[in-house]
Amino acid sequence: MINIALDFSKREGYLLQPTKSVIIPVKTCRKFYEIEDGFWKLNGKNMPIVSNASHIGIQKSDKNSAESTVNENIKKARRAIANCDSIEWRLAKRQLQIKSHNSCSWFIEVKELCLKYEINDLYAYLTNPLSKFQWKKLVKSKIHDYWTSKITDESKGYSTLKFMDHKYNIGSVHPLAISVNANLKDIRKIPVRLKISTGNYILQTHKASFSKNNFISPTCKLCGKADETVEHFILLCEKLEETRIPLLSKILDNGSLI
Ligand SMILES: [Zn+2]
Repeated sequence: MINIALDFSKREGYLLQPTKSVIIPVKTCRKFYEIEDGFWKLNGKNMPIVSNASHIGIQKSDKNSAESTVNENIKKARRAIANCDSIEWRLAKRQLQIKSHNSCSWFIEVKELCLKYEINDLYAYLTNPLSKFQWKKLVKSKIHDYWTSKITDESKGYSTLKFMDHKYNIGSVHPLAISVNANLKDIRKIPVRLKISTGNYILQTHKASFSKNNFISPTCKLCGKADETVEHFILLCEKLEETRIPLLSKILDNGSLI
C-alpha cells in the first residue's frame, strides 16, 4: 500500500512528505497490532510510529479517533468564537442580528432554545464568553428551573395528582416513589402506592361503577360490611386491621414512613 502510494506520487510528480507519513498502530478492544521500529519504510527510510497524528484537520489516534477529533474540534470552535476578530465570531453576530425567528439558521435554532430557557442576552455572552464550566452550570440550572416550574404548574390542573402535593424536584425522587429498602418486595409496593394516591387503584366501588346492569357489587369482598372505597380500604376495613394497626402506630410514632 505504501509502495503503491509512493509509485503513484513518483508517476504524478509530487513528493510524499516524510514528516507527515507516519504509522499509527491500531488498538481495538480485542487486538493491538504491535509494530517493530523499521518495519515500515518509505523511500528506504524508516517511518515513525506515533500514537496520534492529524490529517487535513482530522485527528487520528490509536485509541478513539472519533472522540479525539470531536474534542479537538470543540476546542478549536471555542477558541475561534471567543476571538472577536475571527470569521466565526462575526458570522455569529451577523446571524443573530439579521436572521428572523423562522430562519433555519443554526444560530437562530440556538437562540430559540436559549430564549425558551430564559437565557436572554446572547450578545453579552458573545462579547464576554463564559468558561465551559460556567456555561454548563448556567444552562443546567436554567433547564432545571424551566421544567420544575412547568411540571409543577401543569400538575395543579390534574385532580388525580392532588395527593402528590405538587412537589417536583429534578434529580430527586418523589417521596411517594421512594422505597424503604432497595429490595424487590419494597420496589413492587411503589406502583400500588402511586395508584392508591392518584385514585387509579381499582376497588370494588370502581368496578361497580364501570359494570353494566349492576352485575358487580361495590361491597368489600374481604369483610362484606361496607362499600369498598379508598377510605374503607385504607382506614376502616376490619379484615385489614392486623396489617393496618402496626403500620398506623409506626406512622404516629415516627412520622411518615415514606
Ligand atoms: Zn372491608
